[in-house]
Amino acid sequence: MISMVAKLRRLLSQREQWHALLLLGMMMFGAVLEMVGVGAIPAFITLLSAPSRVEKYAAVRSALAHLPPHSEAELALWGAAVLLLIFLLKNTYLALVSALQARYVTNRQIKIAGRVFHAYLDSPYALHLRRNSAELLRNATNEAMEVVGSVLMPLLTLVMETLTVAAIFALLLVAEPFISLVAVGLLGGASLVFARAIRRRLIHHGHAMQLHRMKMLQAVNEGLGSLKVTRVLRRESYFFHAFMASAEKFAAATRYRQVMLDLPRLYLETAAMAGILGVAAILIAERRPIDVVIPVLSLLAVAVVRMIPSFNRITSSLTTLRYGRYALEAVYNDLMSVHARADVRGQAADALPFHRSIELRHVDFTYPGAARAALSDITLAIPRGGVVGFVGPTGSGKTTLVDIILGLLDPTRGEILVDGREIRDNLVSWQRHIGYVPQDIYLTDDSIRRNIALGVREDEIDDAAVQRALQAAHLSDFVASLQAGLETEIGERGVRLSGGQRQRIGIARALYHEPDVLILDEATSSLDNETERFVMQAVEHLRDERTIILVAHRMSTVRGCDRLYLLKDGCLIADGSFDSLLVENDRFKALVGAEWAESPDRDPERSSRWA
Ligand code: ADP
Repeated sequence: MISMVAKLRRLLSQREQWHALLLLGMMMFGAVLEMVGVGAIPAFITLLSAPSRVEKYAAVRSALAHLPPHSEAELALWGAAVLLLIFLLKNTYLALVSALQARYVTNRQIKIAGRVFHAYLDSPYALHLRRNSAELLRNATNEAMEVVGSVLMPLLTLVMETLTVAAIFALLLVAEPFISLVAVGLLGGASLVFARAIRRRLIHHGHAMQLHRMKMLQAVNEGLGSLKVTRVLRRESYFFHAFMASAEKFAAATRYRQVMLDLPRLYLETAAMAGILGVAAILIAERRPIDVVIPVLSLLAVAVVRMIPSFNRITSSLTTLRYGRYALEAVYNDLMSVHARADVRGQAADALPFHRSIELRHVDFTYPGAARAALSDITLAIPRGGVVGFVGPTGSGKTTLVDIILGLLDPTRGEILVDGREIRDNLVSWQRHIGYVPQDIYLTDDSIRRNIALGVREDEIDDAAVQRALQAAHLSDFVASLQAGLETEIGERGVRLSGGQRQRIGIARALYHEPDVLILDEATSSLDNETERFVMQAVEHLRDERTIILVAHRMSTVRGCDRLYLLKDGCLIADGSFDSLLVENDRFKALVGAEWAESPDRDPERSSRWA
């Protein structure tokens, strides 16, 4: 519990913590008002049943002296009015506290969810290689909400209710020490027994709930994400069953929590009834006069009735906290680890100019947990305006090399210099130079225009830049042929477009901010020859102004590069122009030869310079 509070504190700013304390202060005052409310009822009953007894108290006597002459009935009316006023004020105040509490809590919910999502957007790319997106989706939505709903909120409730119980207990202790000890001992003991009894299963279900929440998301993601293949292979039932299996376990955990949230009230009520009857039996056995027994019993009954919801909420809060613990762990761990990243990444204030070259010096990279290096001792230099290709068999490290140049992955060793300066000095500025076209272009369920200006606010989209990008990516004619033009909605992941159109939107998107470096990672691999040639023509038109880095395993794609770098098993084994490599390097010759044999129309001689 203490560690939970400590973790929660790290998730809240200083100001938010102060607000929590202020809220607690208000709750504490609320508890005092509750105590006054509880005390007022037996006082009123005494006023009705034996008015003379209230005059024993000096304060009451002097208050009564201020009243005009009155009968007992009038006194009772005054008493009723005062009682009503007390409850009116108390409950208005408590309603206010409750509204403030709800406001505080929901605001924190938004804030924490926002911070988690922001952290993921900002986190090292390597994290996304390791983590399933379903887990991140769950943490940024559900778990962030849970941190507030199942940790912060129950903690506040726990403190509030403990204070309420303590206040009522204090009142009872003065009036009737024995009874108060009996009442609190009874309810407290019963709660403790309950909490102990369900502890282990709560831990089990709390963990299961979190795990299966993720697995459900994952099954939906994977099942729908691969729908085409899934449907043709008739494997829908696999994902459906995976989903249902997790849904059932999730439901079992939810059910257990629900029952354990409802049960304490019934259980405590039974224990309290037994307790009150027991105390009544003792008092009667002691032969105390009935006018003493009645106020004592009514005080006890009111106290217990008032305390049952408190004990119920205390037990329920403890139950909820056990479930919330896992959400807190997930959110806390991610927010803390991303903090570390932000510190490491201190950015130099000035921009990173690129006029001369991009240089890699002795770059090594090993994926976390991988047995062997994905890149070893890569040294190369790309001049501004150069067009280079990274070639090599699948798994040779081409994509890793590109991700390093993009600044997505941090090399394990070595430097990446732009005009002699390390890109990590100002990654943001370096990335502004780059237009990147990945192999899988992620298109959003939106218009062509908004896909090209991805992530730019509607009112900030530069339409002239969109037009230039369209032109450069050879998309203008296609867009002109569409009824809705640029506003055409392309469907989720661009399902209403062909592969080549999607790829060219990807290129237009990369070109929108007019980058001086264009990196295409297998951007045309999935295209047929005709479309690829078309896309490469578009790229050819861009070469005068830009530095272009191409990754391809098709040799025809890189035919027109100034220089090729041949990779194998993470090592740079040769470099040179296409023609010189073809003459000098057997391995390169073999690669080209294999492709030529497979598809004669890819004969490098015939597919001259991307035309
Ligand atoms: P290419 O782009 O040339 O096909 P990659 O750069 O994708 O090759 O991969 C290079 C090597 O790194 C391969 O051996 C691959 O198995 C490994 N690799 C790629 N991604 C990861 C990852 N996220 N974790 C561990 N190993 C990886």
